[in-house]
Amino acid sequence: MDLRSINEIVHFHVHVFFDADSRAQALQLRTDIGARFKVQVGRVFEVPVGPHPLPQYEIGVFADELTPLLSWLMLNRGSLTILLHPNTDQEIADHFDSACWLGTPLTLSPKPLQVSLRAAGQDGPRPVLINSQPHLPY
Ligand code: ZN
Repeated sequence: MDLRSINEIVHFHVHVFFDADSRAQALQLRTDIGARFKVQVGRVFEVPVGPHPLPQYEIGVFADELTPLLSWLMLNRGSLTILLHPNTDQEIADHFDSACWLGTPLTLSPKPLQVSLRAAGQDGPRPVLINSQPHLPY
């Protein structure tokens, strides 16, 4: 098997899933994340979009902030299901082969994802633009 380099990873996404019962908890977690970590806090999707089977929001994070964020989520996610995946040129591999889950894994759809973004005519993963204003210690 050909080994891949971590240099392929542009950044990471954390997706926090919720349903009607866990929505308030998930949105509080989103606020708590933005108050503690240098990340891109994504908009809340109230319906399933893309490969995601439930409502969710996305947190964009670079490697230097990933370990603190992931450590904090391990301690503070409650019962929420969280997907962590790298963003490389290979979207399907990112979401299926390379993904990690906290909580109960969900079944993603590969349909909207590309095997290779470059082969599909795209430059690479969507950029992560830091928009949080961390002011609390983690
Ligand atoms: Zn993602």
